[in-house]
Amino acid sequence: MKRWKHSIASQSLKKKWAISSGAVIFMSFAVMSIILYIALKGWLYQQEEQEVNRTMHDLTSFFESQGPYLTVQDIQSNKGLMTSIVDKDQTVRLLNSDGIELLQINNTSTFPAFDNIDLPDNGYSLDTDKSSSISAIGNIQLGEFIGYVQLEHPLKGFQSMMTYIITAMLMFSVCSLLLSGWIGYMLATYLLRPLQNLKSSMDDVAAHGFEKDLAIAYDAKDEVGELIAVYETMMRKLKSSFEQQQQFMADASHELRTPIQVVEGHLALLNRWGKDDPVILKESLEISLREVNQMKTLIDEMLELARGEQMKERPPTNIVKLTKDVIEEIMQVHPFVNINHVLPVQEVINVHITSNAYQQIIRNILTNAIRYSKEPAHVSISYESKLEEIIVHIQDQGIGISPSDVSKIFDRFYRVDSARSRDLGGSGLGLSIVKLLMENVGGSIIVQSEKDKGSTFSMVFPLTK
Ligand code: ADP
Repeated sequence: MKRWKHSIASQSLKKKWAISSGAVIFMSFAVMSIILYIALKGWLYQQEEQEVNRTMHDLTSFFESQGPYLTVQDIQSNKGLMTSIVDKDQTVRLLNSDGIELLQINNTSTFPAFDNIDLPDNGYSLDTDKSSSISAIGNIQLGEFIGYVQLEHPLKGFQSMMTYIITAMLMFSVCSLLLSGWIGYMLATYLLRPLQNLKSSMDDVAAHGFEKDLAIAYDAKDEVGELIAVYETMMRKLKSSFEQQQQFMADASHELRTPIQVVEGHLALLNRWGKDDPVILKESLEISLREVNQMKTLIDEMLELARGEQMKERPPTNIVKLTKDVIEEIMQVHPFVNINHVLPVQEVINVHITSNAYQQIIRNILTNAIRYSKEPAHVSISYESKLEEIIVHIQDQGIGISPSDVSKIFDRFYRVDSARSRDLGGSGLGLSIVKLLMENVGGSIIVQSEKDKGSTFSMVFPLTK
């Protein structure tokens, strides 16, 4: 049983489908055929019995109609009349009480022996036990004459009809078995084709990664279509995150290689002869230190980005106070910068965000505003209250960003002017971190910028959790 189950389980879906649909159709057809055969056989046999009853009834009525003084000779002379009552297939004979034959009509069958027959006292009786014929024997009393009328009704016609029906049904059953198996197989092939394509696409991904096109040609909106759509969406997301990962790795290694090469160059220079020249020594050490700091910032930011700020608990935080703290911190590094902090009417604005995340957002935007402005930078910070959100605007009068670059500045490592940004200590990750942190609190960020005029970064924070 186990082996049988195992061998069924290891068959392809197509075969299972074809065999099961074939078997189900065949079984239903066979059951229907058997029921029909039995019903038909009963009905046809009844017709044959009715035929015998009719002949026996007509014969008995004929004898009775002849009156009580009818002699055997009279009966023999009426043979023609009796022949018209009896069917041409039936054979009838008249016997006296000892079983001696007095008259016979037709000669198509042989009669059962008179001694073995149950003789009726009056009327007639049928014997339906034999398969080849129906026999009947009837009692006749005409005046002083007592005798019997015996009838044989052959079932040849009935039997050949039944053989014909059973042969036709068998042929239909075999044809239906083959046809349903074939239709089942074709249907399974047709319905399973998209799954086959899905499997091929998965095999391709397993063998060659995301090189090939992931689209699977299937337009129907059925269950398989839904499955394929889910698969395609899933694979597209995987592909995009895989490509992002690869891009991030390539960019990160490139970004890290540059400062390492600079430090390496200066160390080699010092090692060869530079250490003896105090000017070169000072300059090389300063550059190397700057590059190491740059690297440190870069690594910190990359880690920040990889970690994200996925805190479940975000207590209400007064962002006005936090903004003041960041301004203070920045003013220590850039004492000549003009920052106009336009305080809101209510001194407290609570947003569900961690202080760390909020400060990082404001610090990054504020640093950029200063970094990409001519000295001394003029920056303004203001708040806009809406029904369900609060918007923090940070506006500068710096170099601005061209429309074609605005959509790209949130991409990792994207910088409008790489060399300038690097010189100013930028890593190209600041805005990606801001975007990620804003998304984590369910907020968004909007940029309005004009080349050489300045930029406004607007952070939209939801007021609900
Ligand atoms: P970076 O560390 O290079 O500043 P960011 O992700 O913070 O990286 O910013 C990406 C790029 O967007 C910057 O290199 C700069 O070209 C541009 N940018 C960002 N903020 C401003 C701004 N306030 N004014 C002009 N350009 C900006």
